[in-house]
Amino acid sequence: MDAVSEAGASEIMREVNIRKRFALHYSIFNINYSIVNEVNDLKELCRKNIWELSPYSSARNEYSGHVARVFLDANENPYNAPYNRYPDPLQQEVKTLVSKVKGVPVDNIFLGNGSDEAIDLPYRIFCRPGIDNVVAIEPTYGMYKVCADINDVEYRPVLLDEHFQITASKLLDACDANTKIIWICSPNNPTGNNINREAIEEVLQKFNGIVIIDEAYSDFSNEKPMRAELRKHPNMIVLNTMSKAWGCAAIRLGMAFASKEIIDIFNKVKYPYNVNLLTQKQAIEALKDPFAVDKWVKILIQERSQLMSTFLELPICEKVYPSNANFFLAKMTDAQSIYDYLVEKGIIVRNRSRIQLCGNCLRITIGTKSENTELVGALRNY
Ligand code: PMP
Repeated sequence: MDAVSEAGASEIMREVNIRKRFALHYSIFNINYSIVNEVNDLKELCRKNIWELSPYSSARNEYSGHVARVFLDANENPYNAPYNRYPDPLQQEVKTLVSKVKGVPVDNIFLGNGSDEAIDLPYRIFCRPGIDNVVAIEPTYGMYKVCADINDVEYRPVLLDEHFQITASKLLDACDANTKIIWICSPNNPTGNNINREAIEEVLQKFNGIVIIDEAYSDFSNEKPMRAELRKHPNMIVLNTMSKAWGCAAIRLGMAFASKEIIDIFNKVKYPYNVNLLTQKQAIEALKDPFAVDKWVKILIQERSQLMSTFLELPICEKVYPSNANFFLAKMTDAQSIYDYLVEKGIIVRNRSRIQLCGNCLRITIGTKSENTELVGALRNY
């Protein structure tokens, strides 16, 4: 075999191996897509205790087939409806609406107590404490490292370049046989930019473990969300949240989209009633009105571009970095003292100057027009 066809053949084999490893059964709106029929390699990726875990079976899981009227199964108090009853452990009504809004089948959706839960679970499912490691872009959202530390999993940060971009080979070079997860946040926090799509696709194709794409801010981006590519990438988990574009940070609802096999493992490991009734109710209300979100997003993107232009005119601002999120990063002449000055005025931004590649940078969340105007007014008087 010549060198070129050998390389081609090894690419094909790699693809076959990844597909085999994840043995997919995607159910796309009642049609079951079964790519490969074995689940051996997902089993290999999982911690043995998790693969073999018999999950807790809650009272509400155990009956089916009849309309229930009298509930004497869960040791609940019959008084104080509706708060006396345990909520739906699998949040079917919320998931049906999420499915509609996000275009992802119900079987491919996990809902959790904020993205925090969806960030922590993959460590507990795939990473053996003290043995396995994960790779992540740097700088990025701090919870990936915090959860690694809590779970005693080695965290391997790979520095972005000066444009806050990364190549697939840099990420793959940081991996070894014990690397279970690669974290990519896009749009990235705190840098605000999309990570280039070719690098993401290459990592997804070449890495034999789990690739998690955190798209918490993708509603503010012009790039097609990765959740649309679920069927193509059996090793991908995409994270979304109600905390940003949906304006629901208080209710704590995060989501993960992945193959049915991966979602089934998430559901096995999560706490039985991980999303409480009040959260489910409020999420249903919000998800019934996606047009409100579209309107907010449009306004915030417009405000973002105005505020970024205004920052560029401030003598105390040296650089504004491109953003696809509801915030942007600005390099200032003296971030710490500008931050302190704003705090005194009752205006809180995020000082990111101690983060790698973010020297003297403030991270500015886009507020309402009047909040943004107040910020600019204060900075003009600095
Ligand atoms: N992912 C990213 C990239 C974030 O920046 C944040 C919050 N700052 C989250 C997830 C957290 O989302 P949640 O509120 O759903 O826990």
